[in-house]
Amino acid sequence: MSKLFVISGSSGVGKGTVIKEFLNKHPDYKLSVSCTTRNKRDGELDGINYFFISDETFSEYIANNEFIEWAEFSGNRYGTKRDYVEKCLKNGENLILEIDTKGALNVKNILPDATLIFIAPPSIEELEARLRGRHTETEEAISKRLASIKLEIENSKKFDHIIINDTVDNAVSQLEKLMSL
Ligand code: 5GP
Repeated sequence: MSKLFVISGSSGVGKGTVIKEFLNKHPDYKLSVSCTTRNKRDGELDGINYFFISDETFSEYIANNEFIEWAEFSGNRYGTKRDYVEKCLKNGENLILEIDTKGALNVKNILPDATLIFIAPPSIEELEARLRGRHTETEEAISKRLASIKLEIENSKKFDHIIINDTVDNAVSQLEKLMSL
């Protein structure tokens, strides 16, 4: 039986690092690559980090019902392709979706067996410092991301599990425990 885990967390919380470390240790888990309309950051690769697509293409995918879920986040759109998720689950593969909290709750409605995990920062101050330290966003983008944190924390109350990311090693071992590995 394949397992589906949906991992959400506020921007800058370090969920990407935690997931990367987890995948290094557990190559039998696959990470779904989402589509987004946002600009590529330095070092990001098309087809690896995201499929970077235009607004027009994104709208076409919505019209053709090609997303299992999609959401607008901080002025950009992000979506998970339905065929990819269905193919992995049909093939018995274990899949991780790294998506925002709204998308995660939508997935749970469609696929109730999915396990939702929220990765939280040790504190909001720490999160703000991490977000600024990344130097990848403008001040305006950072403010938007900080504003969405409240909503995400509210949504996370409906999640199955919450992990505090104090250190990467701790967070990864908590993930392994939740996933019974
Ligand atoms: P970032 O721009 O920092 O890569 O991602 C911003 C937010 O979009 C993060 O919370 C990330 O988890 C979320 N996200 C990435 N891909 C998807 C997706 O396919 N669907 C949804 N709903 N959110 C996504």
